[in-house]
Amino acid sequence: MVRGLPHAFRRPPRYALGMPELPEVETIARDLRGLVTGARIIAARSDWPRTLRSHEPEAFAAAVTGREIEGVGRRGKQLLVWLGPANVAAALGSPALGAAAAPAATPEAAASEPAVLTVHLKMTGQLFVVAAGAPQDRHVHLVLALADGRELRYRDMRKFGRMGLYRRDPETGEPVEGEAVGVLATGAEPLADGFTARRLAELLARRRGRLKTLLMNQDFLAGIGNIYADESLWRARLHPLRDAHTLRPDDVRRLHRALRDVLAEAVERRGSSVDDYTAPQGDGSMQEHLQVYQRAGEPCERCGRPIRRIVVGGRSTHFCSWCQRLPAKQREAAGKPLRSAADGGDGSSRRPAAATRRGPRWTELSGEGALGRTADEEARARRVAATRKAAATRRAAARGGATAPAPVPGATSPTGGAA
Ligand SMILES: [Zn+2]
Repeated sequence: MVRGLPHAFRRPPRYALGMPELPEVETIARDLRGLVTGARIIAARSDWPRTLRSHEPEAFAAAVTGREIEGVGRRGKQLLVWLGPANVAAALGSPALGAAAAPAATPEAAASEPAVLTVHLKMTGQLFVVAAGAPQDRHVHLVLALADGRELRYRDMRKFGRMGLYRRDPETGEPVEGEAVGVLATGAEPLADGFTARRLAELLARRRGRLKTLLMNQDFLAGIGNIYADESLWRARLHPLRDAHTLRPDDVRRLHRALRDVLAEAVERRGSSVDDYTAPQGDGSMQEHLQVYQRAGEPCERCGRPIRRIVVGGRSTHFCSWCQRLPAKQREAAGKPLRSAADGGDGSSRRPAAATRRGPRWTELSGEGALGRTADEEARARRVAATRKAAATRRAAARGGATAPAPVPGATSPTGGAA
């Protein structure tokens, strides 16, 4: 098979792509739940073996064929697609079934046991439910054919997404203990009922390190990435470099509230359609309501001073240096990373070092009269706008190729009827 260069090398983006976080994956789960619950899988095909963590493509097809989709859930940033035991009679009776899909039970997912398919979309993974005859572009790498004439298609431009099929623990809905080690996040679910301010305080008390890095650690909290870490810290007025263990009870309460509020609002708005995220029933609108993420140079909604961008743990970090102060004791220790990330600097990119030296360092700005943008900030804002426009164009093209010619029957309910 002849392949061109991986996409990532052909067109390096100016900004690192983010991946869908809790609100985006929750939106996809809700859409899918409404669209495919009760549907039976009659065949599977894939052309990129690395997408599958647990099986070779033929073994995977054999293991999913004949199973009914019982529901769709989420753990952290991953989807959980719950599959019932294989209905061998239904599978054998299907004309679409090839010889390779004989019900040969694999030890990983015996046909008689309920299974769970974990789906990690990573940066560019997308899921669409379309009529079987709908046109398909070259980025579709895995297809589950359904008995009702539709297909669940997995599209992934960069092919970093991963799926795994495992026996299901009936209690948790997750893979049985020991079967998918390291696949799912182990951190607390921030929107769960049991996630209280007291619980967050307990978790924080055991941790060292900077708040931004900690919030994005999937074994601390599950589902938070760059967007919602920056947004919740801005809402809580906490500096991203703040040492986690120095939070006072009042800080913890504000952070808890900010996390829950911003995530719930984002779920309500169907997530932030930045980069390549789109859900089976359409884009989200939270990107229009983000206060700091990718808004470097724009005035802070609270104080009017420009939003700053620094790099923390290799990730762009957006915040207001006026509203989100570091305690005096920590300023000295944090000075180095802050100074190394000059105003507007993006240490994570291959941008020439000289470019990061234009304009005053943000640490040198008084904060007085800093409304509006410097020339550098203006240029950056234009680039952000162009990047967003390009991403929106890519999403529109993906949807057009995947869904426009063949509207999905019964796919009109915006909530999928299963929220
Ligand atoms: Zn501010």
